[in-house]
Amino acid sequence: MSAYPQALASVRDLQPQQIQKIIEQAFHFKRSGFAASPSLEVHPSAIVLLAFFEPSTRTRTSFEIAAHRVGIKPVTFAADDSTSLKKGESLHETLANLLAMGPNLLVCRHGGDVRVAETLRASQIPWINAGDGQGEHPTQALLDAMTVVEKLGDVEGQRIVYVGDVAHSRVARSGLALFEMMGAEVAVAAPTQWVPEDKAWAKAKKFGSLREAAEWATVCIGLRVQKERHAKAHGADHTIQSHDFRLDKKNLMPLRAEAIIMHPGPFVAGEDLSEEILSDSRCAIHDQVTNGVYIRASVMSGMLAQAVRAGGRI
Ligand code: ASP
Repeated sequence: MSAYPQALASVRDLQPQQIQKIIEQAFHFKRSGFAASPSLEVHPSAIVLLAFFEPSTRTRTSFEIAAHRVGIKPVTFAADDSTSLKKGESLHETLANLLAMGPNLLVCRHGGDVRVAETLRASQIPWINAGDGQGEHPTQALLDAMTVVEKLGDVEGQRIVYVGDVAHSRVARSGLALFEMMGAEVAVAAPTQWVPEDKAWAKAKKFGSLREAAEWATVCIGLRVQKERHAKAHGADHTIQSHDFRLDKKNLMPLRAEAIIMHPGPFVAGEDLSEEILSDSRCAIHDQVTNGVYIRASVMSGMLAQAVRAGGRI
């Protein structure tokens, strides 16, 4: 088995040893200030192309910073009014053109476009899913797992609850698969309309309020209300979340002192999280962001080094 997958579309592309290796390497980067590992030598001309067809703050920037830290050159394409998408070019044709320019690694975020997904599957170079509509967000799950290990010592045995709009969250879908593989129990605290119905969640505990879930959990992960995904799935009028699911002092009162509070960001203050939580000593939200750089450095340098060893051209 190779140490890294050829493509990281889903956390299901990862074997347990690969998960461990990625997280260990991320901790190594964190402890050593990005000291290179001999097995992860990056070619000085290696280029990672970041193709972002959906908005992003943390993910895109942390991939860029991580690339600079480990000596990979990032080139970013962000779909905005300055690109030929504005002239009517399709997303998949745009992606095919970017790939034709010969990057060595691709990171792509898109809204779940079928033709973009096909283009990615046919890619001849290693690629990483940075979020695909309601699908998956594997590097978010990895950085969340790293944060749990850092704060609580291990993922195994933790009781992790996703709170809020779980049904539309790719963060929760990837997190569920990864945390279960690593031996945690994962639950949902969501308003009825956002309790996920797919099979993957069938055996997860369901809580009717955050207060109830907080008594049970060792890790509470809040989620943004994914309004941009609601228009297709439901009606625009389902986008108001009851305050029973907001991460705030009152709802988190029953949470134990050694537990942690996380959120993938962005949060909408007052809606899914109350800003008072940022100063709670159990809050690990900015640690997640910091760890995202190390995880992305680990995944990118590992996948790239492996592709070069396998004969991939720079
Ligand atoms: N940043 C996360 C994502 O891209 C969560 C969110 O957008 O609410 O899925």
